[in-house]
Amino acid sequence: MNVILMGPPGAGKGTQAEFIKAEYSVPHISTGDMFRDAVKNGTPMGKEAQKYMSEGKLVPDQVTIGIVEDRLAQDDCQLGFLLDGFPRTIIQAEALDGVMDKLGKKIDAAINISVPDSILIERMSGRVSCKECGKVYHLIFTPPAQSGKCDKCSGELIQRSDDNAETAANRLQVYIDQTSPLLDYYENKGLLKNVDGNRDSKSVGADIESILNGL
Ligand code: ADP
Ligand code: AMP
Repeated sequence: MNVILMGPPGAGKGTQAEFIKAEYSVPHISTGDMFRDAVKNGTPMGKEAQKYMSEGKLVPDQVTIGIVEDRLAQDDCQLGFLLDGFPRTIIQAEALDGVMDKLGKKIDAAINISVPDSILIERMSGRVSCKECGKVYHLIFTPPAQSGKCDKCSGELIQRSDDNAETAANRLQVYIDQTSPLLDYYENKGLLKNVDGNRDSKSVGADIESILNGL
């Protein structure tokens, strides 16, 4: 299955991707995670991406399309993949169509997780993740057993710098302006599946599971 997980920042894409990758054994390809790794490793691409990420802007299409194209050509994507946070512009979506044609594949579904803006801000402002293993928590909704420590590996929990109130609001606006037009793009292709993300993660996951099982 070749699936895109869509939705505004904080909608729960990464959270749902964890369930899906465990159950369906497909690689989870998050462009946000790839950029954060590049920033952490201090690569030239990471340095370039950081300029945009710190302001809540999109990294230029050319850079983003390049890393996804390389990733989708890798062996572990041959039996399927789950894209999270890509595409985010019409140009990226068209480039993805071109990459799929080249690889002789097609997108099976674009699953859109929708959540009201006020809840998104609450989700982003309480999000923390493990510095070591990346596991994501929410300080109120899904807190770790021990404050500041990952349940899985005891790593330190940190807040993403772009989850501060100002940058989070910018990211929401960027979503509305540049990414939400993709909903029509995938609707017109008959691929869009909407899921109400304003419920507990298990209920959201159950809806996604039934969509995936119907593909
Ligand atoms: P995204 O990948 O779409 O930006 P995340 O999966 O990182 O979103 O979720 C954002 C925050 O909201 C995290 O702190 C996560 O633990 C929390 N979260 C995710 N899904 C839910 C949910 N259904 N209910 C409450 N909190 C959630
Ligand atoms: P995310 O983890 O998906 O919230 O992404 C974090 C940040 O990474 C975004 O605010 C962008 O700066 C950058 N980013 C992630 N995916 C993309 C994309 N598809 N296109 C451009 N920038 C992206």
